[in-house]
Amino acid sequence: MRKTGICPKCNHDHTLLVDRLADTGDYDTVIRDMHLAIVHKGEGWFGDEKLGRAGQLSAVVCRACGFTELYVKDPERIPADGNTIVERGPAPSTGPHR
Ligand SMILES: [Zn+2]
Repeated sequence: MRKTGICPKCNHDHTLLVDRLADTGDYDTVIRDMHLAIVHKGEGWFGDEKLGRAGQLSAVVCRACGFTELYVKDPERIPADGNTIVERGPAPSTGPHR
C-alpha cells in the first residue's frame, strides 16, 4: 500500500502517509514517537535492567476503510538479542568466502 497507494483490503486509492505515530506514557501531555520494540540496554548500578526502544514506526492508512500498515523506519538498527527479539533468515557473510 505504501508503494502503490492502493488499499489491499478495499482497493480504494486515497491513503494517508503518517510519518510519525503518537505514543504517550502516563500523561497525555507528553507525546513521543511510537516504537516497535523494547530493547535491553544493560544493567544499572543495582542490577536493575535498563530498557530502551528501537524501531520508530510510520504508517499508511486507507481513507475509506481505515486499514493501516505499520513500517519500521530503521529495521537494520533493531538489535536482535535472541530473547525478546529473534532474528531469522540467512546468517550475514563473515568473510571473503562464498
Ligand atoms: Zn481500504
